[in-house]
Amino acid sequence: MYIIMLGAPGSGKGTIGKEICKKYNLTHLSTGDIFRDEIKRDTDLGKKANEYISNGNLVPDDITISMVEDKLMELGDVLLDGFPRTINQAESLKKFLNQKEKSVTAVINLCIPDEDIIKRTSSRVICSNKECGATFNTIFMPPKVEGICDVCGSKLIVRDDDKPETIKERLNVYYKNTEPLISFYKKEGILETIDIDIYSNTTKEDTTEKAFQIIERRLK
Ligand code: AMP
Repeated sequence: MYIIMLGAPGSGKGTIGKEICKKYNLTHLSTGDIFRDEIKRDTDLGKKANEYISNGNLVPDDITISMVEDKLMELGDVLLDGFPRTINQAESLKKFLNQKEKSVTAVINLCIPDEDIIKRTSSRVICSNKECGATFNTIFMPPKVEGICDVCGSKLIVRDDDKPETIKERLNVYYKNTEPLISFYKKEGILETIDIDIYSNTTKEDTTEKAFQIIERRLK
Protein backbone atom coordinates (compact mmCIF):
# COMPACT_ATOMS: atom_id res chain seq x y z
CA MET A 1 0.00 0.00 0.00
CA TYR A 2 1.20 3.52 -0.81
CA ILE A 3 -0.40 6.47 0.96
CA ILE A 4 0.57 10.07 0.19
CA MET A 5 0.06 12.82 2.77
CA LEU A 6 -0.51 16.17 1.07
CA GLY A 7 -0.92 19.56 2.73
CA ALA A 8 0.85 22.81 3.50
CA PRO A 9 3.76 22.82 5.95
CA GLY A 10 2.32 22.54 9.45
CA SER A 11 -0.97 21.00 8.31
CA GLY A 12 -0.31 17.90 10.43
CA LYS A 13 0.94 15.48 7.76
CA GLY A 14 3.58 14.06 10.09
CA THR A 15 1.31 13.71 13.12
CA ILE A 16 -1.59 12.07 11.28
CA GLY A 17 0.83 10.09 9.12
CA LYS A 18 2.38 8.48 12.21
CA GLU A 19 -1.05 7.26 13.39
CA ILE A 20 -1.81 5.80 9.95
CA CYS A 21 1.55 4.02 9.91
CA LYS A 22 0.89 2.50 13.34
CA LYS A 23 -2.54 1.21 12.36
CA TYR A 24 -1.68 -0.13 8.90
CA ASN A 25 1.91 -1.12 9.62
CA LEU A 26 3.42 1.20 7.02
CA THR A 27 6.92 2.69 6.94
CA HIS A 28 6.78 6.45 7.48
CA LEU A 29 8.93 8.00 4.74
CA SER A 30 9.33 11.69 5.51
CA THR A 31 11.64 13.47 3.08
CA GLY A 32 11.94 16.39 5.54
CA ASP A 33 13.11 13.99 8.29
CA ILE A 34 15.60 12.33 5.94
CA PHE A 35 17.07 15.70 4.94
CA ARG A 36 17.25 16.84 8.58
CA ASP A 37 19.06 13.64 9.49
CA GLU A 38 21.55 14.12 6.63
CA ILE A 39 22.11 17.73 7.76
CA LYS A 40 22.72 16.63 11.34
CA ARG A 41 25.25 14.02 10.18
CA ASP A 42 26.88 16.68 7.94
CA THR A 43 26.88 14.41 4.88
CA ASP A 44 27.37 15.73 1.33
CA LEU A 45 23.64 15.37 0.71
CA GLY A 46 22.93 17.18 3.99
CA LYS A 47 25.23 20.08 3.07
CA LYS A 48 23.58 20.45 -0.31
CA ALA A 49 20.02 20.14 1.06
CA ASN A 50 20.69 22.66 3.83
CA GLU A 51 21.41 25.43 1.29
CA TYR A 52 17.76 25.19 0.21
CA ILE A 53 16.00 24.14 3.43
CA SER A 54 17.47 26.92 5.56
CA ASN A 55 15.88 29.48 3.18
CA GLY A 56 12.52 27.71 3.07
CA ASN A 57 13.07 26.54 -0.53
CA LEU A 58 12.61 23.08 -1.99
CA VAL A 59 15.58 20.80 -2.48
CA PRO A 60 15.98 20.30 -6.29
CA ASP A 61 13.91 17.50 -7.84
CA ASP A 62 16.85 15.44 -9.13
CA ILE A 63 18.34 15.10 -5.63
CA THR A 64 14.97 14.43 -3.97
CA ILE A 65 13.60 11.97 -6.53
CA SER A 66 16.66 9.73 -6.60
CA MET A 67 16.83 9.73 -2.80
CA VAL A 68 13.17 8.66 -2.51
CA GLU A 69 13.44 6.03 -5.25
CA ASP A 70 16.45 4.48 -3.48
CA LYS A 71 14.42 4.24 -0.27
CA LEU A 72 11.33 2.86 -2.03
CA MET A 73 13.42 0.07 -3.57
CA GLU A 74 14.18 -1.22 -0.07
CA LEU A 75 10.74 -0.75 1.47
CA GLY A 76 7.36 -2.47 1.29
CA ASP A 77 4.20 -0.59 2.27
CA VAL A 78 4.94 3.10 2.70
CA LEU A 79 3.33 6.35 3.75
CA LEU A 80 4.95 9.27 1.94
CA ASP A 81 5.05 12.44 4.03
CA GLY A 82 6.35 15.52 2.22
CA PHE A 83 6.81 13.79 -1.13
CA PRO A 84 5.83 14.47 -3.86
CA ARG A 85 6.01 18.23 -3.57
CA THR A 86 6.19 19.16 -7.26
CA ILE A 87 4.38 17.92 -10.38
CA ASN A 88 7.70 16.59 -11.64
CA GLN A 89 8.11 14.52 -8.45
CA ALA A 90 4.52 13.24 -8.75
CA GLU A 91 5.07 12.19 -12.36
CA SER A 92 8.33 10.44 -11.49
CA LEU A 93 6.64 8.59 -8.63
CA LYS A 94 3.82 7.48 -10.90
CA LYS A 95 6.29 6.16 -13.47
CA PHE A 96 8.37 4.43 -10.79
CA LEU A 97 5.32 2.66 -9.30
CA ASN A 98 3.90 1.79 -12.74
CA GLN A 99 7.15 0.00 -13.56
CA LYS A 100 6.64 -2.08 -10.44
CA GLU A 101 2.94 -2.60 -11.32
CA LYS A 102 1.98 -0.73 -8.17
CA SER A 103 -0.15 2.35 -7.58
CA VAL A 104 -1.02 4.87 -4.90
CA THR A 105 -3.94 3.77 -2.68
CA ALA A 106 -4.96 7.27 -1.54
CA VAL A 107 -3.71 10.83 -1.39
CA ILE A 108 -4.85 12.38 1.87
CA ASN A 109 -4.93 16.15 1.55
CA LEU A 110 -5.06 18.05 4.86
CA CYS A 111 -6.66 21.41 4.19
CA ILE A 112 -6.15 24.15 6.79
CA PRO A 113 -6.29 27.99 6.55
CA ASP A 114 -2.95 29.88 6.37
CA GLU A 115 -3.49 31.88 9.60
CA ASP A 116 -4.00 28.61 11.45
CA ILE A 117 -0.87 27.16 9.89
CA ILE A 118 1.24 30.11 10.99
CA LYS A 119 -0.17 29.88 14.52
CA ARG A 120 0.24 26.13 14.68
CA THR A 121 3.70 25.98 13.14
CA SER A 122 5.17 28.78 15.22
CA SER A 123 4.12 26.95 18.38
CA ARG A 124 5.42 23.56 17.25
CA VAL A 125 8.22 21.88 19.22
CA ILE A 126 9.94 18.59 18.49
CA CYS A 127 11.90 16.10 20.56
CA SER A 128 15.65 16.66 20.28
CA ASN A 129 16.17 12.89 20.42
CA LYS A 130 16.23 11.82 16.76
CA GLU A 131 15.28 8.23 17.63
CA CYS A 132 12.08 9.53 19.25
CA GLY A 133 11.07 12.45 17.02
CA ALA A 134 7.80 13.12 18.92
CA THR A 135 6.06 16.38 18.02
CA PHE A 136 4.14 18.63 20.41
CA ASN A 137 2.49 22.00 20.18
CA THR A 138 2.73 24.48 23.02
CA ILE A 139 -0.84 25.71 22.29
CA PHE A 140 -2.74 22.76 20.84
CA MET A 141 -0.97 19.66 22.14
CA PRO A 142 1.32 20.72 25.00
CA PRO A 143 3.70 18.24 26.66
CA LYS A 144 2.90 17.30 30.27
CA VAL A 145 6.06 19.08 31.46
CA GLU A 146 7.03 22.27 29.61
CA GLY A 147 10.08 21.77 27.36
CA ILE A 148 10.33 18.02 28.03
CA CYS A 149 9.26 15.17 25.73
CA ASP A 150 6.40 13.03 27.19
CA VAL A 151 7.67 9.98 25.35
CA CYS A 152 11.40 9.84 26.16
CA GLY A 153 12.13 12.74 28.54
CA SER A 154 14.54 14.55 26.18
CA LYS A 155 14.56 18.31 25.65
CA LEU A 156 12.01 19.79 23.19
CA ILE A 157 13.34 22.19 20.54
CA VAL A 158 11.97 24.44 17.77
CA ARG A 159 12.85 23.34 14.24
CA ASP A 160 15.00 25.91 12.42
CA ASP A 161 12.60 25.98 9.50
CA ASP A 162 9.61 26.68 11.80
CA LYS A 163 10.79 30.26 12.41
CA PRO A 164 8.06 32.74 11.29
CA GLU A 165 10.04 34.24 8.32
CA THR A 166 10.85 30.77 7.05
CA ILE A 167 7.26 29.57 7.48
CA LYS A 168 5.96 32.42 5.29
CA GLU A 169 8.48 31.51 2.59
CA ARG A 170 7.57 27.81 2.89
CA LEU A 171 3.89 28.71 2.42
CA ASN A 172 4.75 30.70 -0.73
CA VAL A 173 6.72 27.74 -2.02
CA TYR A 174 3.80 25.43 -1.17
CA TYR A 175 1.29 27.50 -3.18
CA LYS A 176 3.62 27.79 -6.15
CA ASN A 177 4.91 24.20 -6.35
CA THR A 178 2.82 21.84 -4.30
CA GLU A 179 -0.77 23.08 -4.50
CA PRO A 180 -0.96 22.09 -8.21
CA LEU A 181 -0.69 18.48 -6.99
CA ILE A 182 -4.28 18.77 -5.73
CA SER A 183 -5.54 19.01 -9.34
CA PHE A 184 -3.04 16.37 -10.46
CA TYR A 185 -4.34 13.79 -7.98
CA LYS A 186 -7.97 14.87 -8.42
CA LYS A 187 -7.58 13.96 -12.10
CA GLU A 188 -6.05 10.63 -11.07
CA GLY A 189 -9.21 10.03 -8.98
CA ILE A 190 -7.33 9.33 -5.75
CA LEU A 191 -7.51 12.66 -3.91
CA GLU A 192 -9.26 12.69 -0.52
CA THR A 193 -9.47 16.01 1.32
CA ILE A 194 -9.94 16.45 5.06
CA ASP A 195 -10.86 20.01 6.11
CA ILE A 196 -9.31 21.03 9.39
CA ASP A 197 -10.44 23.98 11.49
CA ILE A 198 -8.28 24.18 14.58
CA TYR A 199 -10.64 26.69 16.23
CA SER A 200 -13.72 24.49 15.96
CA ASN A 201 -12.40 21.53 17.88
CA THR A 202 -11.02 19.48 15.01
CA THR A 203 -8.84 17.29 17.19
CA LYS A 204 -5.97 15.10 16.13
CA GLU A 205 -8.22 12.11 16.92
CA ASP A 206 -11.02 13.43 14.62
CA THR A 207 -8.62 13.88 11.73
CA THR A 208 -6.98 10.51 12.35
CA GLU A 209 -10.38 8.78 12.38
CA LYS A 210 -11.35 10.47 9.10
CA ALA A 211 -8.06 9.33 7.54
CA PHE A 212 -8.70 5.73 8.69
CA GLN A 213 -12.19 5.82 7.16
CA ILE A 214 -10.75 7.04 3.86
CA ILE A 215 -8.20 4.22 3.77
CA GLU A 216 -10.81 1.58 4.67
CA ARG A 217 -13.03 2.84 1.85
CA ARG A 218 -10.11 2.87 -0.61
CA LEU A 219 -9.07 -0.64 0.34
CA LYS A 220 -12.50 -2.09 -0.50
P1 AMP B 1 9.04 19.05 5.85
O1 AMP B 1 9.53 18.53 7.15
O2 AMP B 1 8.30 18.00 5.05
O3 AMP B 1 8.22 20.30 5.99
O4 AMP B 1 10.33 19.42 4.97
C1 AMP B 1 11.28 20.36 5.41
C2 AMP B 1 12.03 20.94 4.23
O5 AMP B 1 12.72 19.87 3.53
C3 AMP B 1 11.16 21.58 3.17
O6 AMP B 1 10.82 22.93 3.48
C4 AMP B 1 12.04 21.46 1.93
O7 AMP B 1 13.06 22.44 1.96
C5 AMP B 1 12.70 20.10 2.12
N1 AMP B 1 11.89 19.04 1.48
C6 AMP B 1 11.17 18.06 2.11
N2 AMP B 1 10.55 17.28 1.22
C7 AMP B 1 10.88 17.76 -0.01
C8 AMP B 1 10.53 17.40 -1.35
N3 AMP B 1 9.70 16.38 -1.62
N4 AMP B 1 11.07 18.12 -2.35
C9 AMP B 1 11.91 19.14 -2.12
N5 AMP B 1 12.25 19.57 -0.89
C10 AMP B 1 11.75 18.88 0.16
